[in-house]
Amino acid sequence: MNFFNLSLNELEELIITCNMRRYNAKQLFQWIYQKNIVSFDEMTNIKKEDRIKLSQILSLDFMNNYETFISPDETVKFKFKLKDESFVESVLIPEKDRNTLCISTQIGCPLACRFCRTGTMGFKRNLDTGEITGQILAVKKYLIEKNEKITNIVYMGMGEPLLNFENTIKSIDILKNDYAFAMSDRRITVSTAGIVDKIVELGEKTGVNLAISLHAPDQEKRLEIMPVTSAKYPFEKLVEALTKYPVPSRKRILIEYIMLKGVNDSEKDAYKLAKTANKLRAKVNIIPFNTFDTAPFEKSSDRQIEKFRDILISKNITAIIRKSRGSEEYAACGQLASF
Ligand code: SAH
Repeated sequence: MNFFNLSLNELEELIITCNMRRYNAKQLFQWIYQKNIVSFDEMTNIKKEDRIKLSQILSLDFMNNYETFISPDETVKFKFKLKDESFVESVLIPEKDRNTLCISTQIGCPLACRFCRTGTMGFKRNLDTGEITGQILAVKKYLIEKNEKITNIVYMGMGEPLLNFENTIKSIDILKNDYAFAMSDRRITVSTAGIVDKIVELGEKTGVNLAISLHAPDQEKRLEIMPVTSAKYPFEKLVEALTKYPVPSRKRILIEYIMLKGVNDSEKDAYKLAKTANKLRAKVNIIPFNTFDTAPFEKSSDRQIEKFRDILISKNITAIIRKSRGSEEYAACGQLASF
């Protein structure tokens, strides 16, 4: 069994059935996630015979096989090679007072949103829990050498987290665990294209912040740019689910909205979006479209983007234009893909 696929509870169960003590599981978690020791031999507070037993039942396949691509703006893309020879990507976004890591949950994506490069590679498979937390552990190690640490995690890389629900939840559980990453749920954000039947459950089970890739002010326009998702989960149903999301105190739902020239960037679209944002008490992140070779859209002009933002602000909505990072290395939003 791969250690990295187990929650603390699952590891405890396993360890008890092997006639060891429950607290050995916590020790293992601390060695691996906190002290970065990934060999049983070095776990000196565990009895020698137990270490041998552990090495017989658990494998420690650490995700250390990766390449980095550093953009001029210091964004770092990590391209991991997995055991089955497939690739997955994460992006580290350093800012003045924080280091945000954007992680992936699937190889490819089945939703095929028309503005997203990941969608063009199709769906390959779900990542397992260890492949999700492995991205975090590897980047954590990378940063330790630079005397830095990860401060925020966003599930906004390749794939749709809510279509890999069990592994997403389990990875968050490990992230939050005091014996592992001990990260506050306030610093974790999951972004979804709108898998309506899992939205509330995500909030109830994890307490994380929610970002919704809305990108359109109504069903008709959303269907045009996010055909797979919107056909199955219509706009009205989505908004209804979002109103039920248990938003952490002092936090807001985040609406993500890509600006596509002549498609969803008119003044009328802005006024319509404002209504939904107000209903949800959500803030809006306006995302300039990051292009890629086969993209069927163009980016809205800066003037149009600013006008759009000002309309939202005039309706009392917190709206900011997301600065695009990492596009030189194909590390920006919606550009992750490995063919
Ligand atoms: N499937 C989830 C998680 C991926 S998040 C979701 O859709 O939310 C990836 C984010 O990048 C989403 O907000 C997505 O809409 C945005 N994005 C995708 N393609 C983009 C592009 N070409 N330019 C800018 N943002 C893009």
